[in-house]
Amino acid sequence: MKIQQVRINLVRLPLEEPLVGAPPMPGMLREFLTVQILTDDGIEGIGITTFGGKIVRTLKSALEEFGELIKGEDPLRTEQVTAKLRAASAPCGAGGVAALAISAIDIALWDIRGKAFGVPLARLLGGLRDRVPAYASGALVRTTPTDKLERAAAALVEKGYSQIKTQMVVDGLNPAQEVERIRLVRGAVGPNTNLMVDINQRWSVHEAISIGRKIEDLHLGWLEDPTQCDDYQGLAEIARALATPICAGEYLYGIEPHRQTMTHHAVDIVMIDLLRAGGVTQWMKIAGMAEAFNKPVASHLLPEIHVHLVAAVPNGLVVEYMPWTWRLFDNPPMPEKGEMKVPSAAGLGLSFAPDLFDKYGIG
Ligand SMILES: [Mg+2]
Repeated sequence: MKIQQVRINLVRLPLEEPLVGAPPMPGMLREFLTVQILTDDGIEGIGITTFGGKIVRTLKSALEEFGELIKGEDPLRTEQVTAKLRAASAPCGAGGVAALAISAIDIALWDIRGKAFGVPLARLLGGLRDRVPAYASGALVRTTPTDKLERAAAALVEKGYSQIKTQMVVDGLNPAQEVERIRLVRGAVGPNTNLMVDINQRWSVHEAISIGRKIEDLHLGWLEDPTQCDDYQGLAEIARALATPICAGEYLYGIEPHRQTMTHHAVDIVMIDLLRAGGVTQWMKIAGMAEAFNKPVASHLLPEIHVHLVAAVPNGLVVEYMPWTWRLFDNPPMPEKGEMKVPSAAGLGLSFAPDLFDKYGIG
């Protein structure tokens, strides 16, 4: 089998919060690059990437250049193809644009592999189970006004979510007001909901320990990215000081920084971002490393693809259901009563929505 053609498109999705109609998060990711890899025997594999920020067209160019480089390659030789792309882009470094582009191609190659063998990706990778827990994300953010936050939190529970994430570090609030706000959310979701809190790297180590201790009685499921993602010693200090589990990893590029978080005992729960990790190939390696360290893994964004990965591995904890990518796909998997089902069709079991490029394409 050989790669014959690679198509790249850029789409911009609407600003929305579809879970409970809460105010949308102003910084939500809306621009996605789609990749379609066509083989000489008629199989098409699809992939996506994002995080281009204001240089998203640079990311598109990187994908187009990579697309030219992989023509004629065997799509089942995932390591060989991605090694070629890493070598081709090595002078610009291992992370950033090159990594985000390689990940999209890696995902599409795994889609081709699943279709070639006629099995869903989850089963190809280990197939531990067909349903996974999913938590609601993106509806209770730091820009949500407090009264709307309480209402949206209660609405998520009514919709059947038993695991929900919110954020702290709200502009204009002092630590005491922050603690009060998070107590309101706990009150709205009740004691039996697994409530998680994301800090997005915005606290110092001291703030994380000081404020973290004031909310320990709320029994959070995890405190996410309490400080800088590469301050492994600082994260380890926080993890040692608090009973609340520390979750981190979404901002890390590649495999090696995850080795640092694990060997420094900086995290209790390993979050893996499919695009920054390097695609399916590297995601699985990080999950395996976490298993050896006796740590569960949680996914970051792209639930339609991550459902396969969390379902495949023995230490898959939960899928983040962030509804930022559902519009990309025709009939995407959706959470039901706090669970997601692995698509049953071969490969990713996904296809792009028929009107995606006409409706949302921007070049
Ligand atoms: Mg996060």
